[in-house]
Amino acid sequence: MLILLISFFFVVLIAPKKESDQSNLLITTIITIMKRLLLFSLIAISLFSAQAQKHTLPKHLEYQALEPGLDSLSMYIHINSYHKKYVELLNKSLTGTADTGATITQLLIHSSKLSDMARNAAGGHYNHTLFWDILSPTPAAKPSELLNTEITKSFMGMDSMKVQILQAANKVFGSGWVWVIVTPEKKLKITTTINEENPLMEKHGNVRGMPILGIDLWEHAYYTKYQGNKKEYIQAVFKLLDWELISRKYSVAMESEALKQLNSSADWAAFSKFHDVMKGLVMNMGKGEMTPIKSNSANLLTLAKALESEPIPAEYATEPVKAAIKNLILACAQVNDAVVKKGTDAQIKEKFATIRDPYKVIVASLSKKEDQFSHQ
Ligand code: MN
Repeated sequence: MLILLISFFFVVLIAPKKESDQSNLLITTIITIMKRLLLFSLIAISLFSAQAQKHTLPKHLEYQALEPGLDSLSMYIHINSYHKKYVELLNKSLTGTADTGATITQLLIHSSKLSDMARNAAGGHYNHTLFWDILSPTPAAKPSELLNTEITKSFMGMDSMKVQILQAANKVFGSGWVWVIVTPEKKLKITTTINEENPLMEKHGNVRGMPILGIDLWEHAYYTKYQGNKKEYIQAVFKLLDWELISRKYSVAMESEALKQLNSSADWAAFSKFHDVMKGLVMNMGKGEMTPIKSNSANLLTLAKALESEPIPAEYATEPVKAAIKNLILACAQVNDAVVKKGTDAQIKEKFATIRDPYKVIVASLSKKEDQFSHQ
């Protein structure tokens, strides 16, 4: 900063005076150097500020632009009391954290690492930005050929898709969103989330994918004009959807890095369940408590079998992991057998110890993935 100020001083204040003064070669040289320093400083500052870039409220339409479908009072409240607040909360909750420079998409894909406040605010900011993005006072009525083909394939056409969106939205009890997403398998899907969650977030129960269309189902989005009539509000939104913009989002989503990441960070729900029970048992056995394993051995075996019968996310389904699952089931069966046959504590412990090796193989494959994430 100091360099910048000195450079500025030289360039702006001294430069004009040196004209036609041939004896002042030294000053000319200094000015040249200072000009370069000024340039470098500006580059450095712009790089620095890009890194610490804050999230901002996007440029929005005039409040009355979407009348009569969306009334200006609702739009004013929606942008100024909700979206703006999410942006402020997001910046505040990220201040001083390692996530200050992360893009909104990256924040959401790895949202379980965020504080509750940051996660809600990031969702709120992303969701509303997308919503404003796809609405237009002069909307293009037709999707691209590419998207249209997919809509026909997945939903039997545009009209039928709208019906399905309405049905899904109707099932959202309380606040939430209805989405059309591109799944990691590159298929279109309609899904819903509660509150300010969205399909990018890693969360059990959420169908994951890149949203290309989202409709706000919070009452604040429609109550002023439509009161409790959610259906009428959604039909008004349908008329404002710009299919050219949505088609563009579709093409971007299909090729996006984020979609690949969603695929590779897919939850392995069956293993999470096994892991939770196993963790407790290991802890109790460490303390010499045998009752938990005796009352849970059958449950542990069922959870181990589910690892094989339920789909394994593609990136974990390696040969060593599949082999480890087989050994894990075998070991759990032997533990259960020892418990059922009322074996001694020592026998049960001995069998339980054989779970450890295959279990470690699976855990190691997961943590390798985690490492990759933290470097992305
Ligand atoms: Mn809203």
